[in-house]
Amino acid sequence: MLRTASCSASLTSASPFFRHFPLSYSSLSSSTGALRAPGRNLRRVASPASTGRRVFLRRGLRVPSTAGRGVNRQLSRLSVRAVATQPAPSYPDVGQDEAEKLGFEKVSEEFISECKSKATLFKHKKTGCEVMSVSNEDENKVFGIVLRTPPKDSTGIPHILEHSVLCGSRKYPLKEPFVELLKGSLHTFLNAFTYPDRTCYPVASTNTKDFYNLVDVYLDAVFFPKCVDDVHTFQQEGWHYELNDPSEDISYKGVVFNEMKGVYSQPDNILGRIAQQASFGGGDPKDIPNLTFEEFKDFHRKYYHPSNARIWFYGDDDPLQRLRILSEYLDMFEASPSRDTSKIEPQRLFSEPIRIVEKYPAGRDGDLKKKNMVCINWLLSEKPLDLETQLALGFLDHLMLGTPASPLRKILLESGLGEALVSSGMSDELLQPQFSVGMKGVSEDNVQKVEELIMSTLKKLAEEGFESDAVEASMNTIEFSLRENNTGSFPRGLSLMLQSIAKWIYDMDPFEPLKYTEPLKALKARIAEEGSKAVFSPLIEQFILHNSHRVTIEMQPDPEKASQEEAEEKSILEKVKAGMTEEDLAELARATEELRLKQETPDPPEALRCVPSLNLSDIPKEPTYVPTEVGDINGVKVLRHDLFTNDIVYAEVVFDMGSLKHELLPLVPLFCQSLLEMGTKDLSFVQLNQLIGRKTGGISVYPLTSSVRGKDEPCSKIIVRGKSMAGRADDLFNLVLYTGWHLDSFLFFILLQMNCLLQEIQFTDQQRFKQFVSQSIARMENRLRGSGHGVAAARMDAMLNIAGWMSEQMGGLSYLEFLRTLEKKVDEDWEGISSSLEEIRRSLLAKNGCIVNMTADGKSLSNIEKSLEKFLDLLPESPSGGLVTWDGRLPLRNEAIVIPTQVNYVGKAGNIYSTGYELDGSAYVISKHISNTWLWDRVRVSGGAYGGFCDFDSHSGVFSFLSYRDPNLLKTLDIYDGTGDFLRGLDVDQETLTKAIIGTIGDVDSYQLPDAKGYSSLMRHLLGVTDEERLRKREEILTTSLKDFKDFAEAIDVVRDNGVAVAVASAEDIDAANNARSNFFEVKKAL
Ligand SMILES: [Zn+2]
Repeated sequence: MLRTASCSASLTSASPFFRHFPLSYSSLSSSTGALRAPGRNLRRVASPASTGRRVFLRRGLRVPSTAGRGVNRQLSRLSVRAVATQPAPSYPDVGQDEAEKLGFEKVSEEFISECKSKATLFKHKKTGCEVMSVSNEDENKVFGIVLRTPPKDSTGIPHILEHSVLCGSRKYPLKEPFVELLKGSLHTFLNAFTYPDRTCYPVASTNTKDFYNLVDVYLDAVFFPKCVDDVHTFQQEGWHYELNDPSEDISYKGVVFNEMKGVYSQPDNILGRIAQQASFGGGDPKDIPNLTFEEFKDFHRKYYHPSNARIWFYGDDDPLQRLRILSEYLDMFEASPSRDTSKIEPQRLFSEPIRIVEKYPAGRDGDLKKKNMVCINWLLSEKPLDLETQLALGFLDHLMLGTPASPLRKILLESGLGEALVSSGMSDELLQPQFSVGMKGVSEDNVQKVEELIMSTLKKLAEEGFESDAVEASMNTIEFSLRENNTGSFPRGLSLMLQSIAKWIYDMDPFEPLKYTEPLKALKARIAEEGSKAVFSPLIEQFILHNSHRVTIEMQPDPEKASQEEAEEKSILEKVKAGMTEEDLAELARATEELRLKQETPDPPEALRCVPSLNLSDIPKEPTYVPTEVGDINGVKVLRHDLFTNDIVYAEVVFDMGSLKHELLPLVPLFCQSLLEMGTKDLSFVQLNQLIGRKTGGISVYPLTSSVRGKDEPCSKIIVRGKSMAGRADDLFNLVLYTGWHLDSFLFFILLQMNCLLQEIQFTDQQRFKQFVSQSIARMENRLRGSGHGVAAARMDAMLNIAGWMSEQMGGLSYLEFLRTLEKKVDEDWEGISSSLEEIRRSLLAKNGCIVNMTADGKSLSNIEKSLEKFLDLLPESPSGGLVTWDGRLPLRNEAIVIPTQVNYVGKAGNIYSTGYELDGSAYVISKHISNTWLWDRVRVSGGAYGGFCDFDSHSGVFSFLSYRDPNLLKTLDIYDGTGDFLRGLDVDQETLTKAIIGTIGDVDSYQLPDAKGYSSLMRHLLGVTDEERLRKREEILTTSLKDFKDFAEAIDVVRDNGVAVAVASAEDIDAANNARSNFFEVKKAL
């Protein structure tokens, strides 16, 4: 769900709002040797899988641990831990007496074998607050407090409150304790999010002391925030009028206000919002300014009360200690009726379908006729569904839409009626489950045809059922994902919490969603006995075809809408100004100044000292080492990582792009997609796709480029990743029969499949290829609107280094331009394209330059030799064509990329190695400090942008500044330019320094699941980062001094003096900037 929900779904029930960017440090990033999140260093160009929500403030970094394709969010919703067969281990217990003494009663207790956990439900007697206390061996401990917060309108109260309560509290009376925790804790997760009917505050850490620190700050924030007494926080996070000088125009400012403006710049989000048809807690920028401080305070008083709270604890800490911590807070409250007043009432189902037509802001260029969107939505039931039905619907969803071979997805995409699917699938996190399916990039005349095709396909599926291979493939994919329970860097305990809460929040059983084994067994048995048609056809009929609660939404592009909205906002503000007296205006300017001063005044040291922090002595002196054995098979380097993986084998085969012709580079992402989604001589792509689904846990193929420190040549590779269950001998045997391979290990089929993809795929399907191109265009356009900072960063990197240029050719604005030309070329010269794809294969595929990386337990690893030998034997010795030299770069210049938007993305970057700066571990501490203080305070807090941060790529030396959903442009660039002076004037005491160091170590040591450990080790190998160097960098981090900050100031000035600026922004703002600073930007139109 969260981890895999696509960005485009950010307004639908499945994905709540993420605050800030603590997610930015992924499991991959912090251990690639860069020590600190080199989000951009490892550029994995987008694969066809859905975009992780987590990437939203970093560039293009993809989660490495989700090699599997097409397991969509409903399935991951079910990704609980592996099924346990062993008896329940014993965990520390809380006796009834002990609980009573602390004011709790034990309501129920169960051992949940699916997650090898003992779970106890407590009730706080005085307030009725419910607590789920889950004990197991997971060191990645999770705490979460969830409140039911039904919004009554679209003024965004729940969302603004979510932001505001983290801005200081009774025990922690500083501006933003949240930011202090971001800076100086070892958290593995720290965030807050707003759903349409609830607000969640989760934290996680592997360090017990750190964990309880985080818990205490969050509890105090939720129950005793300062924001209810302080209108300034409300103004800062929600909205306020800004007037710097009475002679200027008044404008709106506010973090949530701008965040939501950004959200509403994306048509997919508008669609999701309408589909929800309910008052919306996120907030509509048009309505946010109607919210008053009184309503805001009232909402907190009403709903942020223990009686309306559900609390979750998970992990290997002492369950009694959890109750002690809680009782201290909960005992301060009396019972309140909020639990009843916050009840979520189900919506009655419509007796007739309805249709909604809306406009969305579009650019003036491009073919507007082909930019319609249409989506059909069903509310599936009036009452919540039982787990088996829900599970069956999840299956059905995967069968219809989960992979490129799934019939509903395939038929829609092959119809040529639209560019890509939009907002499609089941979502079951709210009281009433929904299903939706639709397309974007549709021409006006085709809107109705899309609707008809959806309906007729659903009807056909109900009548004819699904192929048995498809059912088996879905079954295996789902079981694999349940068993693997790979939540990436997202804590497992949090994933479980969100599953549990999805029922618990509606007063249903919190244990039930965690126990999938029995319903899964029952479902499988029914499919075996009655056949899949008997199971799935009635579901399609009952919930979709015969369901009159059908809402069809059509969205039409409107090139006037963005400027219209801007004009409307302007006229409202003009009226506001006209209604003010001179005194009023002077007062507003004074209030603006007061707020700004308050925002820019640092917290006094004694306030900062309140936030609990670890000491340097709590920090391990050594980095975490991943067991790595480097061997050789037939001249190919093989890395083996002996780690417990719960019987799963993870394999990466890496090929070198060193012989690839330059002009073929932009075709590489489509080459990768073709490998996975075109057929071979013997197998259609559907059959191949099902085979992979039935026999493996998924295969993915993607390019990866990075600079290598101290070297001119970049690292440029194609990575083929796959995973498989360790033992499936019977299936294996069947495969062997028709391929003639001999069976000597489980690894065999993953290698077999990889070999098949690499060598046997035929690049002959012109129509499918054409779809890939139009889908890629749609995806890139979405990226420009939703992750413009990533596009800007890629652009700057492409000017500053070769690896950046390569990456931009395969995933940046250059790529989008290439795709648009290619789209025409597919019809004119398919032969040429097809032979180019062949040429890419020949220049990549070779033993020479190949590296294999394996992660599994020792026994499995020792079996690989023969299979691997066989696999490698089938590869050609050397690539065709000689070695090429990569030397491309974009010309250095300041660039503004025009898109229809209400908020901008502003970047500036330069290479600090060009000043002679030598990498020192302190650089990570310093850049984190710049992000968390200077940029946070100026770009976000007083600038009103949703995010502002910097990134240091230790491989290339590029230091970049970026903002996200930013109402400003030149002003933000000025802030970036002031960074050197900020560092020079900086005076940090030892405590602040310690905090910054600990926070940096938290990133370096971020929690990793075994596959991520093996993958990180591979990355370090590719980028030449040794364990000795990691140890040295760690020592440098731990001994960072104030002098390092001052020295760094000199290096960072290069960004101000010689850096390049790239903004993705609205035409109006770019014009204004070019007028103010005589044609500072070269203007480039993109949408
Ligand atoms: Zn937010």
